[in-house]
Amino acid sequence: MKEPKRPLGLYIHIPFCKSKCVYCDFYSLANREDAVKRYVKALKAHLGETAPLAEHHRVDTVYFGGGTPSLLGHRYLLDILDDIRGKYHLEKGAEITLEANPESAQSWRELRKLRKGGFNRLSLGVQSADDATLKAIGRIHTFAQAEAAVTAARKAGFRNLSLDLIYGLPGQTMDSWRSTLERCAALQPEHLSCYGLKVEEGTPLWKRQKEFSLPDDDLQADMYLWMVERLEELGYHQYEISNFAREGFASRHNTKYWALSEYAGFGPGAHSDFGETRYAYGRDLDGYITGVLDGTLQVEQSEHLPLRERDTEYIMLSLRMVSGINRHTFEYTYRRRFAPLEEVFLRYEAMGCAERTEQGWRLTPKGFLLSNTIITDLWEAICRDKLRREEAAARGDYRILP
Ligand code: SF4
Repeated sequence: MKEPKRPLGLYIHIPFCKSKCVYCDFYSLANREDAVKRYVKALKAHLGETAPLAEHHRVDTVYFGGGTPSLLGHRYLLDILDDIRGKYHLEKGAEITLEANPESAQSWRELRKLRKGGFNRLSLGVQSADDATLKAIGRIHTFAQAEAAVTAARKAGFRNLSLDLIYGLPGQTMDSWRSTLERCAALQPEHLSCYGLKVEEGTPLWKRQKEFSLPDDDLQADMYLWMVERLEELGYHQYEISNFAREGFASRHNTKYWALSEYAGFGPGAHSDFGETRYAYGRDLDGYITGVLDGTLQVEQSEHLPLRERDTEYIMLSLRMVSGINRHTFEYTYRRRFAPLEEVFLRYEAMGCAERTEQGWRLTPKGFLLSNTIITDLWEAICRDKLRREEAAARGDYRILP
């Protein structure tokens, strides 16, 4: 009998931006349009090189992220997508996402070419509905352009539209965040990703943080809790800490990251989890192009991680999801005892941070705000349990301890 093909997501990194936003920690470069042609050539060569490894996979999601993929224009984008189609088993009905910024998604004719060429999901970086805030963080579009981009996308035939927003921005108050969320929800996207601003080391925001008046942690937490409730009222179901969707529109690609499914990334800084190995390419555009084209491309990090050794990852990632951790999966797939986790969850349940599900436990919105602490506590409980069992085994006591 023929073995069924395994699902695989492809991530295509497009590391070009018109200019850099002050908070940005993604690998992307401004004013490097000169490299686009060679970059596309390198991407296609890299896709070709990897394709034989994916012979027994069916590609069910493709995600063009960045950077600003929409900057490339339909010719290059469709050229890459056609290349994927020619080299991989691209499933009919695969989710194919394009990230776009409002200023480069104004033409419905351009968007229609992309839609007709196979892209079926558009993720727009809107970030805020307040033009002064957008300017302060280095965005080069207005909210009116974001609204125009949504209109253009609908006219072009996109039926799966996601908006990216950030809360906790400089100068943002609860009222201005409320206004952003309401105005964005009024655009009726199928999906919303709402992230709390993080001041990442080395970014212009980090270097000049004193110049920006940033909401404190308490206000950011209030913004988050209000948002979760409000989006639920508006019919957007939370399925991950920062992601909300109408029924049937959760991002299939991003869910792969949290469900420990396989994905292969292409481009400088792109990460992969493919063939039981996690690996990433260096954040160096020219090094990537040269490396691919002359056959010397090296991965920067690589770690072989068989399924059984992914228990920590499973705890961390499953608890990002509203579906939560599954007791059976933890015990049978990862061969770990669940009892030590149960004790920690009970403690957090009493604080309103965790709740039982039919299959295990999940974090509540209040728990999501404390997820790092909770995950550390869970992991310490697992380590203590392991140590106890090893010590018992060393004494020759192999009973299953409570
Ligand atoms: S548009 Fe996105 S990738 Fe480009 S600089 Fe801004 S945040 Fe970074």
